[in-house]
This record gives sequence, structure tokens and C-alpha cells, in this order.
Amino acid sequence: MDLYEYQGRDLFEKHGLPVLDGGVATTPTEARAIAERLGERVVIKAQVKVGGRGKAGGVKLAEGADEAQARATDILGMDIKGHTVHKVMVTVTADIAEEYYFSYLLDRANRTFLCIASVAGGMDIEAVAEETPEKVAKITIDANKGVDETTAREIVTAAQFPADVADQIVVIAQDLWKAFVAEDATLVEVNPLAKTGEGKVLCLDAKVTFDENADFRQSSHAALVDQAQVDPLEQRAKEKDLNYVKLDGEVGIIGNGAGLVMSTLDVVAYAGEDLGGGVKPANFLDIGGGASAEVMANGLEIVLSDPAVKSVFVNVFGGITACDAVANGIVQALELLHQRGEDIDKPLVVRLDGNNAEAGRAILDAAANPLVQRVDTMDGAARRAAELAAAR
Ligand code: GDP
Ligand code: MN
Repeated sequence: MDLYEYQGRDLFEKHGLPVLDGGVATTPTEARAIAERLGERVVIKAQVKVGGRGKAGGVKLAEGADEAQARATDILGMDIKGHTVHKVMVTVTADIAEEYYFSYLLDRANRTFLCIASVAGGMDIEAVAEETPEKVAKITIDANKGVDETTAREIVTAAQFPADVADQIVVIAQDLWKAFVAEDATLVEVNPLAKTGEGKVLCLDAKVTFDENADFRQSSHAALVDQAQVDPLEQRAKEKDLNYVKLDGEVGIIGNGAGLVMSTLDVVAYAGEDLGGGVKPANFLDIGGGASAEVMANGLEIVLSDPAVKSVFVNVFGGITACDAVANGIVQALELLHQRGEDIDKPLVVRLDGNNAEAGRAILDAAANPLVQRVDTMDGAARRAAELAAAR
């Protein structure tokens, strides 16, 4: 989960990092009230979960409350790279002398943590790394050791931070690491980490991503979810422990195992292209190993309640869970949904293969549900599901 900048700022503050005083507003009047409280020059910043807000005109300085209200009026409702601005953060402004870059992140490829630091901050770090790679230091962080003062000094030296800010950055590097660990983050990024005219180092931007696998021990994180941005079907799926991702096509996809579901998305996408385009997968739904009737019913209910779905492809490869159990699951799931009052009229294409496939197919045939079509190859079933979606 990614945080908004204002949430990241609050988190930094909680962990003792130097940030500027401020608040968040959803209306120009609220922005004005914050500016009045701060009583100085302020900066108004668009709160969207995308970078490059500065360049897009989403970061503006304001002199006093009237101007703050006017700039908030400009920025609220703005579109930044497809994200509508619903909130602005209003903070005291810093008088910036230099802009640096500092981040910690999980480096999956190397199975370790990484610190990226640079004296060339403020701008897009990817561009800096491309044009002047010597200005970007990458330091591996040992997960067992973390960032102590010695490591922090190594980072400062490697990134060539100026001597006059070295001691401050050594403290920031350690505190930011503590925040990264305590919050179970996979990314904390400060860009710019700025030096003011008076020589004070401040975190002027905050980008934070949490590891959702740690949600069970991070009870305070749930409150940081922006409910307005959550897809209601994804929310319902989460409550039922289903691995569901909404996509923008028409063929609902249910499979057992993430790898199988991913390749199912591919074959359906290819089949859709063969039909002249226009038909695509509507979602990713992995019902996991034990495809019981209840799990299947929950999965079907979620996929079928997406109004964009026109047909459903259930693709199961029987392994530990045998196909006859899955077939019974599908038959019972359709009955269960009928009892729940769900009015189903969308065709289902089912492909069963692997352990006990023959027995599973026989169960589907015996049930003879007019909505269910059995196709025994993955490509054939994908094509049928795509055709059915195209025809509706
Ligand atoms: P981003 O473009 O989305 O990364 O947004 P940032 O928060 O990094 O802001 C972009 C730029 O606006 C920064 O690199 C700074 O140059 C400038 N900026 C941000 N906050 C302040 C501030 O408090 N005072 C001044 N003078 N400039 C700021
Ligand atoms: Mn930034």
C-alpha cells in the first residue's frame, strides 16, 4: 500500500524525522484556515499517489491566507497523470539552498535492502541515474545489522554529501531506517531531502510503501487506507480471503494457483485478439488450492457481480484438490448462489484437467446446468469464453 505524502509526513514526524509544520485540506477554505494558523509563507501541494507533481503544477507557493486559498482552488480538482486531486497539503515553506535524494527500499532482485542516496535530488532520480550515474550511490543494507552510525557515515561518504550537512544526515539516515523497519515498509523515499539557507536539513517530500504481508502486526495501517479509492469488489474479495484483482475486460477468470491464473489471462487475451480485439480478461481471481464449494461460490459471486463481466472462464488443474471435488464445488456453488437470490444469466466455460479430470467432467455433465459449458483444453475454453463474451 502506498501512502499519500501527508500521511508519509505524519509518519516521518512520529519517528522523529525533521519535517515542516502543516496540515491537509479538502477544500480551499480549510486550506486557508491552515495557512492562517501557520501564519507565514506556505506551500500548497497536491496529494496524489504519483510523482512529478512539481512539474505538473501541483506544488505552489503562497504568500498569506488569501493566496493560499486561491492556490488551493487551482490545485483541488486538478488532474495529474490521470489522478484527480481531492486533497492538498499546506505546510510552512522552506527556503531551499540544496536538494538531495535519500531512500531505503527492498531490493527483491538481490534479496536485500538498499539505500539509494544522491546529492542531485529534487528531480526524477531515474533520470539522474541515467545521465550522471556517478552521482547516485547505492549501498546494500544488511538486514541483520541495519543502519547504525557507522553505516550511516558510509552512506554519507558514498553519496558525497557536503561536510556541513554530514552530521544531520547521519542522524536522519538512522531514524529513517528505524521508521522503515518499525512500519514494515518496502520503500521510504525523501526527494527532496533539502538543505535550507540556514543549513538545516529537512524532509520535504515523503513517499512510503508498506508491505501488506505485515498488516497483521500493523494495526494502525488500516486507518491509512483511502476508502474512496478502494474498488468495492476487491474489498469484498479481501474480506473473503480471495486473491482478486479487477481488470478492465469482459471475461471473468477463476483459476486455482496464481501461475495458472496468469497464463489464463494470456490465453484469453490472445483469443480476444483473434476475434478482432475488444474482448479481454475482466479480472484475476486465484481461489487457491482447496477449491471447496464455498470458496468457489464466493469467487463466482464476486466475478459475476462485476457488471463488465459477460462470460466466465473457470480454469482448474487438479492437483492436491481433485477435479471431481472442484466439479462438485462448481455445481453446489451455482445452487448456493441461486439460494442466495443471485440471479445468474452469464455463461460459464469450465475446463477441468489433471487429477480425476474424467470424474469431474462427468459430474458437470450429469448436473447439466444450461449455463455451464465444458471445454477440455485451455486454449479451446479460452476461445469459447471469449466468443461468448463477444456475442453478448
Ligand atoms: P514531486 O514533484 O511530486 O516529487 O513533489 P515534491 O514534494 O518533491 O515537490 C517538488 C518541488 O517543489 C521540490 O523539488 C522543491 O523544489 C519544491 N518544493 C517542495 N516543497 C517546498 C517548500 O517547502 N519550499 C520551496 N521553496 N520549494 C518547495
Ligand atoms: Mn518529490
